[in-house]
Amino acid sequence: MALAKCIGCGGLFPDIEGPTHRYMESSAGCWAAYGEVLAREYSNAAYAVTHRLSVDTYAVQHPGHPSPQSIQSVARHLIRLCLLLEHKLEEHRANDAMLAATKSKFVWLTPPSRRGMISVAEVHRAANADEHIALVREWAQSAWAAWKPHHAQIQAWLPTEFVRQ
Ligand SMILES: [Zn+2]
Repeated sequence: MALAKCIGCGGLFPDIEGPTHRYMESSAGCWAAYGEVLAREYSNAAYAVTHRLSVDTYAVQHPGHPSPQSIQSVARHLIRLCLLLEHKLEEHRANDAMLAATKSKFVWLTPPSRRGMISVAEVHRAANADEHIALVREWAQSAWAAWKPHHAQIQAWLPTEFVRQ
């Protein structure tokens, strides 16, 4: 099947027709691959370990265009990525911290033109749960690194009661 480049993550996916998310703009092939990755995580506990990293990474690789929803979404997912990767918070605590961040401060961050060396295409090809978890971690690191120009802003949004300064 012919491959097409996703407008969000830049990954190569089957060039299919199909649904995409309302504001996390992607190709239909990318959205379908992500759906299958999520299905594995929801149906198999061994794949679910890194579920929040998958959700955050997909969101920040597909920021879309500025809108009230996309501004909130990109900011929240970058905040949780930062807490998981830089501050090593446990998933539930990172989630509480993300929800405690002050939304009113969020502004649109101009997305980097390249959003990581890995896309959900690589994660989708994982042969087993161990490979899946390792790939999700690499995928997340790679997307987080791509947002480096905004790291200082994201750190400034973290609710201070959750992180040691
Ligand atoms: Zn994509």
